[in-house]
Amino acid sequence: MINYISTRNSNHKITSSKAILNGQAPDGGLYIPDNLEAIKLDYHEVTSKDFRGMAKVVWNKFFPDYGEAVIDELVEKSYKDKFSSDAITPLAKVGDKGYVLELYHGPTAAFKDVALSALPNLLTKAREMNDFKDEILILTATSGDTGSAALCGFSDVPGTKIIVFYPDGGVSETQKLQMVTAAGANTCACAIKGNFDDAQTGVKKLFKEIPQPAAGVSLSSANSINIGRLVPQVVYYFAAYKQLVDLGAIADGDKVDFTVPTGNFGDIMAGYFAMKMGLPVNKLICASNKNDVLTEFLETGHYDRKRTFYKTTSPSMDILVSSNLERLLYYICGEEHTVKYMKELAENGEYQITPAELAEIQSVFVGLAASDEEGSSAIGRIYNEENYLMDTHTSIAWSCYEKYSSAASSSVANVVLSTASPYKFCASVLKALELPTASDRENMAKCHEATGAPIPGGLAGIFERPIHHTDVIEISDMKDYVIKRC
Ligand SMILES: *Cc1c(COP(=O)(O)O)cnc(C)c1O
Repeated sequence: MINYISTRNSNHKITSSKAILNGQAPDGGLYIPDNLEAIKLDYHEVTSKDFRGMAKVVWNKFFPDYGEAVIDELVEKSYKDKFSSDAITPLAKVGDKGYVLELYHGPTAAFKDVALSALPNLLTKAREMNDFKDEILILTATSGDTGSAALCGFSDVPGTKIIVFYPDGGVSETQKLQMVTAAGANTCACAIKGNFDDAQTGVKKLFKEIPQPAAGVSLSSANSINIGRLVPQVVYYFAAYKQLVDLGAIADGDKVDFTVPTGNFGDIMAGYFAMKMGLPVNKLICASNKNDVLTEFLETGHYDRKRTFYKTTSPSMDILVSSNLERLLYYICGEEHTVKYMKELAENGEYQITPAELAEIQSVFVGLAASDEEGSSAIGRIYNEENYLMDTHTSIAWSCYEKYSSAASSSVANVVLSTASPYKFCASVLKALELPTASDRENMAKCHEATGAPIPGGLAGIFERPIHHTDVIEISDMKDYVIKRC
C-alpha cells in the first residue's frame, strides 16, 4: 500500500487523504507516491472497464486509505451528469492523420473539468476521514481556465468556499463571463488591478500570511500541485488506449505515443504515472508554445526560467516555471539532487541535471515547440482537409506531433490530447480559418455558423446568464478581502 512523501523530504510520510488535505508539503515540496512499484498492475484490469470503472481502479491504487466502497461512491458522484459525452473523454479519429483525445466535454469546456469534478469530493471526504473540523477556503489565481473549472467544481460543495482572483482585463470576455456568472452560494470571483503574475504572487503571499484567515477556516489550493488533481487525469490515458484498441487502430499490447499540450507539467505527469502503472506507452511528447523552457530542458537538461515571457494564443501554456516537473525529478534524480535543483531554481533561476539523468528522462520524454503561426496554420489545414476543428492549445500539440512523426518516421500510433473546446478561443480559431472577428458573443455564433460544430452546453447561453460577481480590487487589498469573506 502506498503512502505519500514530499519530493524534498522522504521522511515526511503521510496517507493520500492527508496529502490531498495538505495540498503542498510544509517544506515546499510536492506530494508523490513513495513507491512506484506498488502502483503497477496488469493494464487490462483498467482497460476492461468503462470510464468510471477505470477511474475506480486507478483511484484505489493511488488513494488506498479511502477504501473501495468510498472510492466507488466518489467516482460516481464526480462524473454523474457533468459530462456531455458518455465516454467522458472520447477519442476522435482525424482522417488518416491521427487521433485526438477530447478532454473538454465537461461543464466549463476545458480539460481541467476532469480533475476539478473530482477534487472537491476527494477533499471533503479527506476532511471527514482526518477529523478536520475547519471549513476549507480554496484560493486560486487564474489566467482563465482554472478559475471557471474550480468555481464549477466547488460550487455548493459542503464545508468549502472558493475565491478566484483574475486579472482585470487580462482574461477573455467568455472566460470572464464563465467566472462572474458562477452561481454557487459559496463561490466568489474577484478581479484584481494587475496581471496574472500579480494575482498569483498575491495568492502565494496569502498562504504564508494567513493560512487560517479566520477561526475555523483553513486555506487550500485547487491547482495541480495537489495530488488529488493529478490522479484523476491518469485515467484518460487508459481510456485513450482502450478506444484505440476498440477502433482497431492498434493491437492490444502495442505501445502508443501521447502528445500533450503542456504548461505546469501536470497533464503529462499523469501520463508518466499511467506508464508506470503498466500502460504500454512508447513516448510522451511534451508540446510547448513559444515559451519553450521545457523544450530546452528536455533537449539539454538545462532548466532556465530567466527568459522573455511571451503572451501567446495558447495562454494556458504561457508558463516559465512548470511546478509538476519536480515530481518527475524526484523519481529520476532522487531526493538530494531534487532539493539541490529546486534551491538553484529559486536562487539563480536555473539548474542543470546530470547527463545520466537527462538520458533517463529522454528515454520517455521528447520536448518540441510550435509557434502561434504553426498552430494557427494547423487549425486551418486540419479543418479544411478533415473537417475537424481544434482549439489553439490542441493545435500546438498537433503541430509538435507532426514535427515528431515526420522526423522519427515512427509507425507507433499517436494520441494528441485536446485540452479545450475551440469555442473557448473563438477569435483565434476564426482568424485561423481566415474569417473576420468581432465581439466574443458574435464570434461564438460565427464559429458555429462556419463549422456547424455544436456549442458546448456550459458555453451556450453564457451571454444571457445573470452576473453574480462584480468586485474589482487593488492587489494590496487582497488580504482584507479574503478575511472579510470568511
Ligand atoms: C491547464 C491547461 C493546459 C496545461 O496543462 P498542465 O497540466 O498545466 O501542463 C493546456 N491546455 C489548456 C487548455 C489548459 O487549460
